[in-house]
Amino acid sequence: MRQLAERGYTNLLTASRDELDLRRQSAVEAWFHEHRPEYVYLVAGTVGGILANSTRPADFIFDNMMIHATVVHAAWTSEVHKLLYLGSSCIYPREAPQPMREDYLLTGPLEPTNAPYAVAKIAGIQLCQAYRKQYGCDFISGMPTNLYGPGDNFDPESSHVIPGLIRKFHDAKMAGESTLTVWGTGSPRREFMHVDDLADACIFLMDHYDGDQHVNIGTGEEVTIAELAEMIRRIVHPEAELVFDSSKPDGTPRKLLDNSRIHALGWRHSMDFEAGLRRTCEWYIEHHEQAPGQGAGLSDGAQDKL
Ligand code: GDP
Repeated sequence: MRQLAERGYTNLLTASRDELDLRRQSAVEAWFHEHRPEYVYLVAGTVGGILANSTRPADFIFDNMMIHATVVHAAWTSEVHKLLYLGSSCIYPREAPQPMREDYLLTGPLEPTNAPYAVAKIAGIQLCQAYRKQYGCDFISGMPTNLYGPGDNFDPESSHVIPGLIRKFHDAKMAGESTLTVWGTGSPRREFMHVDDLADACIFLMDHYDGDQHVNIGTGEEVTIAELAEMIRRIVHPEAELVFDSSKPDGTPRKLLDNSRIHALGWRHSMDFEAGLRRTCEWYIEHHEQAPGQGAGLSDGAQDKL
């Protein structure tokens, strides 16, 4: 929304969760027929990190399958000019060769900690392709890597690793604690992209891509969870020490996207990872009282299920 507004788009329509339940077909169709959007960025979803995915699999598959189906169908019936759907890098097989090319989709079993979410996301890609094939709709799909940035969800129970660690390390500093617990062994590798780069890529694809195949959106750079935790420790709480809790799951060992397709189209990310991480930590330190997820704690029940 920030980037569209900066580029001079003025007629930006949104529908918050309170205004429109995207899981309800009739409500979604009524909204589309009333507002008649021309371009749709379908970025809504029930999302979360490894703990939320493993403990709420029903929410993750039901909400996302419904949201994709209702919005894509309503976009067809209300004659939307173009729709961009966003998936996730977890759609690829757990043991896929790295970096993962778009055509590795559906070539092997999924990572079990997020399989229900991944199945819903894969269904979203196929929906866009099916509506393109049968009805000629210009519906495209982008598959972003793991994201981070200001305004993220910092709830330790449902967040992804970057906001989760920033929050935990900051809380430890405030409480005068000198031990920082990181889930898993620290050895998994992840590719992270700043949310501003993703927004830029989405607008780019909307302007320049109209193919049937989904397009990976990543940086091509990866860090281990141990390296990431060390970078956040140095920024947020340098006096403390890291401890790895290997009783917690690592999830998929590696998730690096092959970005050749989007590079060939003419797009590259621009945010340096260390600079983006520092800016995000600073944003959280400044805004932590109002940040989403603030106040929520990690319940014992959820910890036990992990
Ligand atoms: P994933 O990329 O789908 O596995 O999702 P996450 O971002 O939740 O987790 C990435 C990796 O970071 C996993 O190996 C987690 O075990 C690890 N990790 C370490 N500490 C944390 C934490 O405090 N929160 C989360 N969400 N993950 C953590």
